Amino acid sequence: MKKLNFTVGPVMSSDAVLDVGAEQIPYFRNSDFSALMLENEELVKSFSGVDSSGRTVFMTCSGTGSMEAVVMNFFTSNDKVLIINGGTFGQRFVEICKIHQVPYSEIRPQFGCDITDEDLAQYEGKHYTGFLVNIDETSVGVLYNIERISKFCKANGLFLVVDAISSFLCDPLNMKELDVAVMITGSQKALACAPGISLITMSEKAIHRLKDSKVSSLYFDLSLALKDGERGQTPFTPAVGILRQINVRLNEIKQKGGVDVEIERVHALASDFRHKIKSLPFKIVSKSLPNAVTALTPLHAKAYDIFLKLQSEYNIWVCPNGGNLKDSVFRVGHIGYLTEKDNDVLINALEDLSRKGFL
Ligand SMILES: *Cc1c(COP(=O)(O)O)cnc(C)c1O
Repeated sequence: MKKLNFTVGPVMSSDAVLDVGAEQIPYFRNSDFSALMLENEELVKSFSGVDSSGRTVFMTCSGTGSMEAVVMNFFTSNDKVLIINGGTFGQRFVEICKIHQVPYSEIRPQFGCDITDEDLAQYEGKHYTGFLVNIDETSVGVLYNIERISKFCKANGLFLVVDAISSFLCDPLNMKELDVAVMITGSQKALACAPGISLITMSEKAIHRLKDSKVSSLYFDLSLALKDGERGQTPFTPAVGILRQINVRLNEIKQKGGVDVEIERVHALASDFRHKIKSLPFKIVSKSLPNAVTALTPLHAKAYDIFLKLQSEYNIWVCPNGGNLKDSVFRVGHIGYLTEKDNDVLINALEDLSRKGFL
């Protein structure tokens, strides 16, 4: 029986993306691969709304690698950054800044909540230089208000870094309008390809800032990636197969009408699920929902037990939470190659568990 994957990554891929993944890996230091990479960059740039002189680089590492690369390349011990820490991924930015000795303050929103103007007000005019946010805090399924953050950063002259790893292609974000300097995403979330590539899109302002940066790393030196990217190449051997999958996927989105159509599709899928789950004994965790994921708290059963049951008895993967949320929260993703019919399969399984008195 087919397994249905409702996790938040890696997710299910389209048949065309899978087909490319099954092919032999071609040689890549040639004009064919360069052309493919230049097209990848053009498409990501257009979907992100970055200014035309902005750039995208493709790093062979998971999303966390690019989060670390961005902190290492754009900030030093002379900076002072604000980090929204509302879950696992906010905490990850905190760890990265600690390791690289970038001074930071944490803004901690209430569990499951967006940040408020009051949360930000106390940092007004305090000489911060940067702002780091995981715009969809995937661990608890909370979408922060990017307009509010953008306004605050514009007013205070902050260099805004957005981890949109689970938000790119799911929630609207126009880098230019919002003055987002750097946007990070990854291959295994809404891009719905194999894991292994993460993408860093930089505005003209960000590229300019890199000129004075002296990063203590060879592999994560973004200036090298930018330079080789000019001719559609990368400094080191990239995950060629995944970059070819990404090309297929980006073109699929383009052919179906572009990023807005794709966002609308994910939104419809998420709304359909949230509507259908209403009659079941769950509480939606978040007061500010992203399109990519719904975090749920079971009213009676243990969250981790539901994850195990769905996997073993129904061939369905949902996403368990770890740590102190293990028993109280699990997540259902709406990204990847899923349809409303697939939502029905999951809802039917949950209804079945409910009938059996498990929920
Ligand atoms: C998935 C994810 C990441 C990165 O995870 P990796 O496992 O390193 O690819 C980072 N931030 C957010 C918000 C995510 O959803």
